Amino acid sequence: MTASFSIHPSVDKGIEAGMDNFTGGSLVCKCPQDPVRVQVDAQSAFNHACGCTKCWKPEGALFSMVAVVPRDKLRVTEHAEKLAIVDPKATIQRYACTQCGTHMYGRIENAAHPLYGFDFIHTELSPDKGWTAPQFAAFVSSIIESGTDPAIMGEVRARLNELGLEPYDCLSPPLMDLIATHIAKTSGALKS
Ligand SMILES: [Zn+2]
Ligand SMILES: [Zn+2]
Repeated sequence: MTASFSIHPSVDKGIEAGMDNFTGGSLVCKCPQDPVRVQVDAQSAFNHACGCTKCWKPEGALFSMVAVVPRDKLRVTEHAEKLAIVDPKATIQRYACTQCGTHMYGRIENAAHPLYGFDFIHTELSPDKGWTAPQFAAFVSSIIESGTDPAIMGEVRARLNELGLEPYDCLSPPLMDLIATHIAKTSGALKS
């Protein structure tokens, strides 16, 4: 099946498997000169397609591709001066290159947040091969909020299933369970 839309350039021709022994690499923004470079000394986790309106997407793609890494394993190594937070009031503070607009990483500063300690990255910005493959698609219905015709949602979900990216309208069950467990331990409903 050839879809009339792009889910994301990194998966449109099929999904490349990650490598078990991969231990990280660099992320580079799209500036032809003096790009921002970020070093990540860890394999990514929970890589997924995201349909929300906040994640950075390449031109023409319906979804972003986003993964998490431990925040203490991520550091900006070159041209940090070009980075600025897209929306300081957002839960996830997304650091974008002010020149080319690429989001280099997203960080949660609220220590009480269930996903505190994880930074969000786009592994497609890396020249290094072996990052975890995307596993599912999150916030699928939200692509309508970016202007996608609701009439093609059936086709979009079918394409995601065909690629092996099970579509969810929030996060995947393991991530939703992780978040709910954190909330329950904080409230005392679950003893830790
Ligand atoms: Zn740039
Ligand atoms: Zn998103």
